[in-house]
Amino acid sequence: CGIVGYIGEIDAKEILLKGLEKLEYRGYDSAGIAVLNKDGVIIFKEKGRIADLRDVVDEDVDANLGIGHTRWATHGVPNQLNAHPHQSTTKRFTLVHNGVIENYHLMKKAYLSEIDMASDTDTEVIVQLIERFSKDGLSTLDALRKTLHLIHGSYALALIDKEAADTIYVAKNKSPLLIGLGEGFNVVASDAMAMLQVTEQYVELHDQEIVLVHKDSVEIQKLDGTIVERASYKAELDM
Ligand code: GLU
Repeated sequence: CGIVGYIGEIDAKEILLKGLEKLEYRGYDSAGIAVLNKDGVIIFKEKGRIADLRDVVDEDVDANLGIGHTRWATHGVPNQLNAHPHQSTTKRFTLVHNGVIENYHLMKKAYLSEIDMASDTDTEVIVQLIERFSKDGLSTLDALRKTLHLIHGSYALALIDKEAADTIYVAKNKSPLLIGLGEGFNVVASDAMAMLQVTEQYVELHDQEIVLVHKDSVEIQKLDGTIVERASYKAELDM
């Protein structure tokens, strides 16, 4: 299983698909990507291999921001419906997640009893909670923060807000995730190998950190909002 993300100036689709292919060695049962452009968020997802996902991706969709996922199902059978990305009911928020949310039942009961869930995954709870708190009046960052305070378990996640085309929101706890730095773009990946195609420069993330990834900058914060400064390193491929 794995995660990729791209925000920059060129088309995101091919970078995401290539990245997912590089993560194939981790094992998965389904895969998907979501891209954001002036038409909104467009999702392609499929059970099976990245080659199967490629077959359903519309070549004509052009977007400079996107996230991608390979799934190793833990909650909900491997099928197209349960494949990531997952969306909130209004489709404002779109999310990919690796890991397991242990208290998702409790979260559903406490905060989402009115919501018709579209999938059987634990993951969907995260994106529905973010929408719920955003509807209560919180900014996307605060809604994400509140959600991360409430959920228990492991996560590497990337979130897109349809109303914020300049940001990928990222968070990590007990699942691997890195930010890759470029000139005029930045990327997200579970493993540097996925994005060596576009950059060798990476910043490591620690547990319980949130990152705002823009095309020209990256801001790392702790859950309490404290800004984190961390130097990048050069990832080299073992030949
Ligand atoms: N628990 C999530 C699911 O079953 C994510 C699995 C993964 O890490 O790929 O959809």
